[in-house]
Amino acid sequence: MTDGGPTPGSRTPLVDPQGRRIVYLRLSLTDRCNFRCSYCSPGLETAHGDALQRPDIRRLVAVFAEAGIRRVRLTGGEPTLRRDIVEIVSDLHATPGIEEIALTTNGHRLEELAVPLRRAGLRQLNVSLDTFDGERLERLSGRGADVERIRRGIAAAASAGYPSLKVNTVVLRDVNSGELGDLSRFAWRHGAIARFIELMPFGGGEPVSVVEMQRLLEEQGVRLEPDATRGWGPARHMRGTSVDGGREVHGLLGFIGAITENFCGDCNRVRVSAAGALRACLGGRDEVPLAPLLRSGTDEEIEAAIREGLSRKRDRHHMEEESFETMVRIGG
Ligand code: SAM
Ligand code: SF4
Repeated sequence: MTDGGPTPGSRTPLVDPQGRRIVYLRLSLTDRCNFRCSYCSPGLETAHGDALQRPDIRRLVAVFAEAGIRRVRLTGGEPTLRRDIVEIVSDLHATPGIEEIALTTNGHRLEELAVPLRRAGLRQLNVSLDTFDGERLERLSGRGADVERIRRGIAAAASAGYPSLKVNTVVLRDVNSGELGDLSRFAWRHGAIARFIELMPFGGGEPVSVVEMQRLLEEQGVRLEPDATRGWGPARHMRGTSVDGGREVHGLLGFIGAITENFCGDCNRVRVSAAGALRACLGGRDEVPLAPLLRSGTDEEIEAAIREGLSRKRDRHHMEEESFETMVRIGG
C-alpha cells in the first residue's frame, strides 16, 4: 500500500470486460495437502513451487484492497498446513478495505485452530466433509483423513462463534449420495449451512446434478422450500425442514451447480495461486505471474498486472468442454 495514498477502493474499481465488478479474492496459501481427495488431486505427490511468504501476501492483499477487493477467502491445498495461518489472518484483518475474511479447510487442524483464527479476525469458515463413514472417507481422501477429527473441528468452530459456518460436500454418485440428509441435519445441529457442490471435472467420480441432489434430499427426509438468501458466492439456497432426534429441525442448504447451472453470470471473483499467479477464471489456463513484481516491482505495477489479467476474464468457464489441472494446484 502507498503511504498517504488514496483511501482503499477509491481508484477505478476492478471490472472485467463483461462489466462485472470484482470484489472477491480467492487466495491459495499452499498447494500442499495432507489429504488426497480423488476429485481434487489425482496423482498429486508434491508441492508445486514456492508459496508466497507472509510479507508478500500482506502487500498483495493491500494492493487488491486499494483496487476495490473487499473479501478474501484463504484456500489451497490445505491452508491450515501453513504455520503462519493465524498471523496471515491477522494481517488481512488489519488491511484497510478488507471487510470479510473467509477460509476453506478440510478440518484436520480445526479443533486447535478454530478459536485462534476467530480471534485473529476470521469470520467465515467452510469445512469440507463428504461422508461420516471413516473407511469411505479414507478411500475418497486418503489415509490422512479422519472423520472423528473433522467432526471435533466442526464442533470447535460451532463453539467459537463464527458468524458464518458451512459444511461443504462434493456429491459423488454411489459414494456419498445416500448421506445428503444426514449431512444436512449434522450441519444444522452445529448452526451451519449444509452446502452441496456439483463435481467439477478435475479428477475421478461421477457427478450428481443439483436437481438430483434436491430429489435425493427429499427422499432422505429433508423437505425443501425456496429461500432468497444470497452470499458472496454462487450458491443458491433452499430452506430445509427435517426430523432429528424426534424433533422438527430447520436449516439452510446451499447448492453450487458448478456445471449444470453455470454459475458465472454474476462472477465477482479473481484467484491467486499459491505461487502468486493471478487467474481470472477457475476454468481457464491464462495466468499472470505476480510473484516477480512482488519481489522487485512497485504497487502500481502490481495493480496494473492485476488489471491486465482481469481484462482477459472470459464471460464463463467451459469446464464441460476442456480438461483441467488439479483443483489443488489452482486453489479451490
Ligand atoms: N483443502 C481445503 C478443503 O478441502 O476444504 C480447501 C481447498 S479445496 C480445493 C476447496 C473446496 O473445493 C473443497 O470444498 C473441495 O471439496 C472442493 N473441490 C475440490 N475438488 C473439487 C471438484 N472436482 N469439484 C467440486 N469441488 C471440488
Ligand atoms: Fe486437499 Fe481440499 Fe483438495 Fe481434498 S479437496 S485434496 S482436502 S485441497
